Amino acid sequence: MTYVISPAPTPSVPVQGRDATALFPVRRIYCVGRNYVEHAIEMGHSGREAPFFFLKPGDAVLPVAEGSVGHMHYPSLTSNLHHELELVVAIGTGGRDIPAAAALEHVFGYAVGLDMTRRDQQNDAKKLGRPWCVGKGFEESAPIGPIRRASDCQLSADTGIRLDVNGAKRQGSTLGKLIWSVPEIIEHLSRAWTLAPGDLIFTGTPEGVAAVVVGDTLVARVDGIGSLQVQIVAA
Ligand code: MN
Repeated sequence: MTYVISPAPTPSVPVQGRDATALFPVRRIYCVGRNYVEHAIEMGHSGREAPFFFLKPGDAVLPVAEGSVGHMHYPSLTSNLHHELELVVAIGTGGRDIPAAAALEHVFGYAVGLDMTRRDQQNDAKKLGRPWCVGKGFEESAPIGPIRRASDCQLSADTGIRLDVNGAKRQGSTLGKLIWSVPEIIEHLSRAWTLAPGDLIFTGTPEGVAAVVVGDTLVARVDGIGSLQVQIVAA
């Protein structure tokens, strides 16, 4: 059998450490909505609700190597492009109905990511009861730094997460402020979908989301995992 057209290349993210050429192949990108209380409140919600999910296509990743600057093209159909700083979980072992107590066995590693959002499109979709695909699932909408193996990460409630834009702090929190923890997210997500190796999970953003424009430089960090630098460039 042969393909009638060339298959698309597999999107991938570099893995930190021992082997500089190691790549993590990306399958799906799952995202958690409103997972920090203060961000839920800034978006007009109480902060107390069950987790919900949306997806971006796997090829929406914009992988950025440690120490380099990724270039994100300002997307079409928006005049309100927002940053959402997030911890990203990379799934190494799949499964369904995974209990929280066993969830961390399925994690390959962690990275810093940005859930870039056409906020005007997302807000219109919310008002009209339409899907969020245009607001959330466009090309380059998931800039991500290198993945650090879970065995090399020591995450705790005090682990800091921070985003600076043009050198000024925009978002800052700690992982202890997540409404749903990483094991709980995996438990809920794996009831709805069978998780597979290569899946990425964007775990939600803390408060402080705001617009960026062409020329802005974003530096995102999660303590003990690494950093991600992205410049917004003209389309
Ligand atoms: Mn998000």
